[in-house]
Amino acid sequence: ERGNRDEEQVPGAKVIAQALKTQGVKYMFGVVGIPVTEIAFAAQELGIRYVGMRNEQAACYAASVVGYLTDRPGVCLVTSGPGLINALSGMANANMNCWPLLVIGGSCERSQETMGAFQELPQVETCRLYSKFSARPSSIQAIPSIIEKAVRSSMYGRPGACYVDMPADIVDLKVNVSSIKYVECCMPPPVSMAEGSAVCMAASVLRNAKQPLIIIGKGAAYARAEEAVRKLVEQCKLPFLPTPMGKGVIPDNHPNCVGAARSRALQLADVIVLFGARLNWILHFGLPPRFRPDVKFIQVDICAEELGNNVRPAVTLLGDINAVTKQELASKNSLPMNYFTVFYHVQEQLPKDCFVVSEGANTMDIGRTVLQNYLPRHRLDAGTFGTMGVGLGFAIAAAVVAKDRNPGQRVICVEGDSAFGFSGLEVETICRYNLPIVLLVVNNNGIYQGFNADTWKEMLKFGDATFVAPPLSLLPNAHYEQVMTAFGGKGYFVQTPEELQKCLSQSLADTTKPSLINIMIEPQATRKPQEFHWLTRSNI
Ligand code: ADP
Ligand code: MG
Repeated sequence: ERGNRDEEQVPGAKVIAQALKTQGVKYMFGVVGIPVTEIAFAAQELGIRYVGMRNEQAACYAASVVGYLTDRPGVCLVTSGPGLINALSGMANANMNCWPLLVIGGSCERSQETMGAFQELPQVETCRLYSKFSARPSSIQAIPSIIEKAVRSSMYGRPGACYVDMPADIVDLKVNVSSIKYVECCMPPPVSMAEGSAVCMAASVLRNAKQPLIIIGKGAAYARAEEAVRKLVEQCKLPFLPTPMGKGVIPDNHPNCVGAARSRALQLADVIVLFGARLNWILHFGLPPRFRPDVKFIQVDICAEELGNNVRPAVTLLGDINAVTKQELASKNSLPMNYFTVFYHVQEQLPKDCFVVSEGANTMDIGRTVLQNYLPRHRLDAGTFGTMGVGLGFAIAAAVVAKDRNPGQRVICVEGDSAFGFSGLEVETICRYNLPIVLLVVNNNGIYQGFNADTWKEMLKFGDATFVAPPLSLLPNAHYEQVMTAFGGKGYFVQTPEELQKCLSQSLADTTKPSLINIMIEPQATRKPQEFHWLTRSNI
């Protein structure tokens, strides 16, 4: 290969340092020696702070704390064999703490491997047990991408330790500058949020708690969730208990802190929310006698594999603590119910083989994401043309066909209150033929959104309804279930998840009669509260 003989050469050590710098690394702790000394020099030259320590163990502990305190992993630089062995303590500790860390170890020349080289050790294998990623670049050109992957892996998902092995021959090799391509700095970890239905479920479990307790772990500290968690504690007036390193996420002297009565708080709680704390020995595995045998755990963690360890949680919220806490805050006032609460409870009871007929705006759109279909041709909705008023006709046909083909198969018709209005009187047809359809009217007093009764009344003080009522609103608290009872079917008016659960299971159990459940939800659900801005126009 004829290279450009005049081109500038760069040694592996400089490539390593530049790759670290490019990935946002700012701190390096280590003990120099063959073959990593040049890496320390090169890093320092590029403006990475280098702290020379006296033992790799302490160096690695130091580097791991940088990852906890800042938004990038610190680097621990160690020599081959015994140097790396000393660093294992720090790697193990960081990995167990779920702290990001990057260890870079020099190793013997590849050509001497298995020959009894100086300080030879199978380092990549050795580190595997104490890290989430352990690898060696195949060439000097592979250094930037492997460093990027190690830095990224240390921070993404559950944070932890990563190891990159640097054989002496790669550190020392010189290549043309132009043969190295640096990989752009990896992006901050993507923020994941919990499933909407699980968030509603958690809010409902928490709302029904008699002795709730929030446990704040070092995961919450790492997630920088202090503001969101404090808001949740204060707005919901919840007592909290920090774990040892969860201390300070909310100040210890906060009036809701029950740290002084730790044992009692753990023992009496009937619902416990875990924000980034594992149910390991520190928390007595979540088991009696330190906890009530019937305690309900709501687990918030970024690591799916952690959910369900040692206990069977009541609700699991997989996601970033900061984001999940904000989700929880948003759904805090979930009476009146919102769409997610409603569909969560409906989905729980739907027979797998049922027809799901649906129409409406939010009702259909949000319902589609939560309500599951398991069979082809069993979902019928507003379709290509976005037609409102198709629902009851579709449901009637499905019920008539099901009667012939598969008696006992249910038809569930999920309607928005506005959509229901387009063909509501087909309920008479349903009753005339006694089709055991379950009609759900998700009622928000309007088209897209409506008003509650009090607001409606206040509004009418400003003038005649034709002048002041927004064209979107329908009559608040309309008792659509009476359309069903008018013709002899069963009608229910429900306002809480508990009522919904009960009425739905009754309706599904009764295969002899149609029923209509009128489900009141927050009139402004999915929307921000509005000002009376239309009242400022010339119509009043
Ligand atoms: P403690 O020792 O304070 O009880 P642990 O180390 O047992 O805390 O638990 C911390 C938990 O936090 C780990 O299970 C980890 O997966 C989780 N975690 C770390 N970062 C985040 C984050 N950003 N969002 C959610 N969970 C996180
Ligand atoms: Mg509506």
